[in-house]
Order: sequence, then structure tokens, then C-alpha cells
Amino acid sequence: MPITVRELHAVEILDSRSRPTLAVTLISQEGTVLRAGVPSGASTGSREAVELRDADPHRFAGQGVLGAVANVNGEIADAVTGRTFRDLSELDGLLVGLDGTQNKSRLGANAIIGVSMAGARAFAADANVALWQSFAGTLESPRLPVPHFNVLNGGVHARNELDFQEFMIAPLGAPSLAEAVRAGSEVYGALRQRLTDRGLSTGLGDEGGFAPEIATPEEVLALLVEAIDDAGYRPGRDGIALAMDPASSEFYRDGKYHVAGESLSSDDMIERYADMIERYPVWLLEDGLAESDWDGWERLTARLGQQIELVGDDIFCTNPEIIAEGIARKVANASLIKVNQIGTVTETLRAMQVCREAGYRQFVSHRSGETEDSFIADLAVGTGCGHLKTGAPARGERVAKYNRLIEIEDSERLSYGLA
Ligand code: PGA
Ligand code: ZN
Repeated sequence: MPITVRELHAVEILDSRSRPTLAVTLISQEGTVLRAGVPSGASTGSREAVELRDADPHRFAGQGVLGAVANVNGEIADAVTGRTFRDLSELDGLLVGLDGTQNKSRLGANAIIGVSMAGARAFAADANVALWQSFAGTLESPRLPVPHFNVLNGGVHARNELDFQEFMIAPLGAPSLAEAVRAGSEVYGALRQRLTDRGLSTGLGDEGGFAPEIATPEEVLALLVEAIDDAGYRPGRDGIALAMDPASSEFYRDGKYHVAGESLSSDDMIERYADMIERYPVWLLEDGLAESDWDGWERLTARLGQQIELVGDDIFCTNPEIIAEGIARKVANASLIKVNQIGTVTETLRAMQVCREAGYRQFVSHRSGETEDSFIADLAVGTGCGHLKTGAPARGERVAKYNRLIEIEDSERLSYGLA
């Protein structure tokens, strides 16, 4: 059913890192009020849609978003208020056209995605269905995704010495979403105990995982296997598997990967990963190599692509064209999916479609800077993509997504797990 926008409004709020972001409210002709909170990344890909920041050093150290807010309340509101849209792609198409740039740098991807997310909610509300149901049929059948809990943080998300950004636990073998969340929470607790016993810090990184002073990724993987065991689960694909996002673009300089004091070539990194996969139950590796290292990515995919899921994040930026290029070059076998990386929900769905047609998996993701908005939980369920990552099983902005999944499972009979 078409919707008519009665009112559109944005305001500057805080994200989970205490940086400004946007909350967008769209009111439909019927008076239904729909809201969206805009996420924001720290280890961003260079080809991401551009987040508009004020760069006024007197406010929020230059991080303010009053310009983006003004774009929603001014130009975008003027263009959409009183207008009727057939579907979300028509609304998103108008936003993209109004911005007029390749990377949404004029109005700001943060302004545009907020309107697009609120718009998606308006169409769902108009059809009288839950948000996840409005995505049903766009890709696979709806299903509850395997949550990937980021329980140990490093890289630019933490102030410790660890170069790798994210270490995740993935309850692939759980019988249900609720049991998967329980497993995530129990292992998180067991990990906290292990760290305490060793006299290591249990302070947290940006996504709610612990951020102890551990230098090498292998030590972390060993620790996670122990924590899984302590909590009474089986480490491995039939129980709880491990996943990593080194976010390697962040430690790639002058053609080398700088890990725990060593300088490694792409091939050294690939062999290091191969060794980790051999020794620990790692089932997924995201951004194993840098966004500029396409040749390395081809070799990484040839070497490990049959054994594990290789996810492109910074290298693909949820961009359908770049993903298509990756598919043609046999780079990765999955793409991370972040709505603000491309800037509209419609383009996000198109990126997922491009993946699906090529047999690439889609790994829906939060950002390190988040709000309490649980939009991506519905996106993951409705598209049936099989897995999502949204941080630790702790901190309100992360738990909001996991709790939303629990509620969906409670009200609907959907299957759980990778398709
Ligand atoms: P970001 O990190 O949100 O800071 O970009 C998440 C990721 O790299 O996957
Ligand atoms: Zn990543």
C-alpha cells in the first residue's frame, strides 16, 4: 500500500560511544509515528557512503551532526512531506536522487539512512505487519539468525594492545535462538571469570566485549575455547564455533600486516589464518585482509574459501557494484551487510540480492557506535540471511537487538540457524 508522509523530523542524539548521531521520526498521514536511530562505525571502509559531521571544534570535538539534522528537517522534509510513495524503493530513490552524489556526501548518508529506516517502518506499519515480515520474500524465507557475540575486543574498538578487532562466539549448534542467547551469555560469564582468575582486566571495548591486555590472536582463541568448555558447551560447529573480524585494513601499512610486533606479507597472513583454523574451531573470518589488497584476497579465498566463510566488510562496503566485482574476481564468499555503509534500505536489500544470486552469504551487522534501535534484528530475520553480529550479550544497545530476536521467536514459529 502507498504511504503519504505527513511529517518528518530529525534531532541530534547520542550513540553508544557518546558521539552525536541522528534520531529520525516520520509521521504518516494516518498519524502513525515511526522512529529510527542511526548507527555509526569507527573502522570504516574508504568507499562507504559518507557520514556528514559538522567539523565544528566547539561542539562534540567536531563530531556534531547538526548539518545532517538540518538536511532532514529542511531539504529532505520539503521533498517528502505531503508526498505519496508506492513503496520503499520509490522513497529511497527520491533520497538518492535528491542527494545527487555517488556517495551521499551532500545530504549525508547518516541523514538519508535515518529517513530510509523510518520509511521502512512506515510501510510495515501501513501493511499492519512486523518490520521483519515486510522483508519476507525479498530473499530467503524468514528465519532466526545465528547470533555472533563479540566477546573480546581489540583494534580501534579498544585501548588494549590487541591488533585484531573482534573475536566472536557463534552458537551454530544451538536448538533455538533463545538457547543461543543463553549460551552467549553463559560463555561471556565464563570468560569474565577466566580473565579475573588470570588477573586480566574485564573492562569493555566499544561493542561490549572484554578488552584485556592480550597480544596475540592465538592466545585469545585458546581462551575462548576454554571459556566455552567452562560454560559446559562443545567448542565446534555442532556446538559453539568461533569467528574473527581482525579488521585488517587498520593494521595494514606499506604493504605489510603489523600483528603483535611482526610484519607479515599477505601470504604470511593467509598461512597464519590457515594455522589458526587448523588449531581452533574458527568457522568465519571477516576482513582477513585489507580493503586495498584485492590480489591477497583472491589468494585467501582460493586457499581457505572451501573451509570457512570469508566475509568482506571494508572491501565491499555493502555496495552492490563492489560486491559484484568481488564475485567476478572470486574474492570472499560472503558480504557483511551494514545499512549505513550504503545509505538506504533498498540498496542494502539489493546488495543482499547480488550476494544471494552468486551463492555468497550475507552477514547482517551493527556498527561499533549504536543506538537502542533494533532495526537490523528484523532485517536479519525477514531476509533469512542466517546470521548476524551485534556485539556482546551485554550493554543496552547490543542487547536490544538480541532481545528483539527473542521476542520474534516467542511470537512466531520460525526455524533457527544458517540456511
Ligand atoms: P565499525 O566496526 O562499526 O567500527 O566499522 C564493525 C566492523 O568492522 O565490522
Ligand atoms: Zn568488520
